[in-house]
Amino acid sequence: MAQKRDYYEVLGVSKNASAEDIKSAYRKLALKWHPDRWVSGTDAEKKTAEENFKEASEAYSVLSDPQKKARYDQFGFDGDQMGGGGFDFGGFDLNEILRSVFGGAGGFGGFGGGFDFGGFGGGGGSRSTRGQDIRTRVTLTLEEIAKGCTKTVSIEHNRPCPECGGKGTKNSSDIKTCPTCHGSGQVRQAVRGIFGMQSFSISTCPQCGGKGKVVSNPCRRCHGTGLERIREDVSVQIPAGVQEGMQITVPNQGHADPNGGPNGDLLVVIREAPHADLLRDGVNLFYTKVISVMDAMLGCEITVPSLDGPYKIKVEPGTQSGTVQRIRGKGLPAVQGYGRGTGDLFVKLMVWVPRKLSRSEREKLEEMRSSSSFTPDLSRDDRAVFDKTKNIF
Ligand SMILES: [Zn+2]
Ligand SMILES: [Zn+2]
Repeated sequence: MAQKRDYYEVLGVSKNASAEDIKSAYRKLALKWHPDRWVSGTDAEKKTAEENFKEASEAYSVLSDPQKKARYDQFGFDGDQMGGGGFDFGGFDLNEILRSVFGGAGGFGGFGGGFDFGGFGGGGGSRSTRGQDIRTRVTLTLEEIAKGCTKTVSIEHNRPCPECGGKGTKNSSDIKTCPTCHGSGQVRQAVRGIFGMQSFSISTCPQCGGKGKVVSNPCRRCHGTGLERIREDVSVQIPAGVQEGMQITVPNQGHADPNGGPNGDLLVVIREAPHADLLRDGVNLFYTKVISVMDAMLGCEITVPSLDGPYKIKVEPGTQSGTVQRIRGKGLPAVQGYGRGTGDLFVKLMVWVPRKLSRSEREKLEEMRSSSSFTPDLSRDDRAVFDKTKNIF
């Protein structure tokens, strides 16, 4: 599974499809690809069916859940969903979904169960067309992510030809109904199903490319396509707190639809530039500061980097190596819909021990070596630090 397909594309529905449309689109796909139907197929067929079935089920699991759908509409695939083919089906019950789609306890029965073709009606719904989406990337620094920002991206998208206004010809009389599809833009082909069921596959008309019309005297500027590719700068509002792999949708900035439908969208995928000092994990930031033995013993003030400039913190006398200081609110804000509040900055203090000492330094330290103050005597807090050190960072 290489590139993940858009969930709407998987189900073959438009972005403003109703819950009922989404359900019925999934129902058709589930009926077609459910592994039960392919038990006597070849291995390749079984594999394709299983993949298609899973892909459709994943799309439906997201688009049928108003909250997940809203999140997907705004940001595209989650981090989890992006990672290879690894959608986690553990989170929801496939059979539960099938029951909700097919109604009643009988019928489909999930994997391995019986099969019910009752109510398999209709077909050939009015598929409205829209322009193709365009996907681009934008790289952000953590500072930009912390506050949110506006980015300008340069994209090439199709727009209606200014010469013919998108019609493909100057004279309306040169536009004729397509003789192949008689204006529907689609051609139907009978296919024999695996159980001998007759069904139809509907595809875009090869002569008119789905327009339903043919042009006999094409516009010279666009050669009859009605479209022109132009480069434009589009500004994209990036909300604070976004993460690597999230997707921002800019409506209507994708390609124009050759059939006069609405424009596609521009999908902007977030890339996060690594920060010179700070490491990010979700809303939290991590920084390691190395201090001297003397500063650890006597205490001091240090400056640590943060996303809104250098920040001073106090190191208490007697600070153990590995101590973590938490600076509340100096992390990143959560993206709306992904959590709430602002994260923290965690500073880990590591004590550097000198490798070389002068004769006089060594002598002074030798005097102190046997002092009880230098003999390890771990307090409860110390123990907590030493136990935790291996787990954090
Ligand atoms: Zn033109
Ligand atoms: Zn046609």
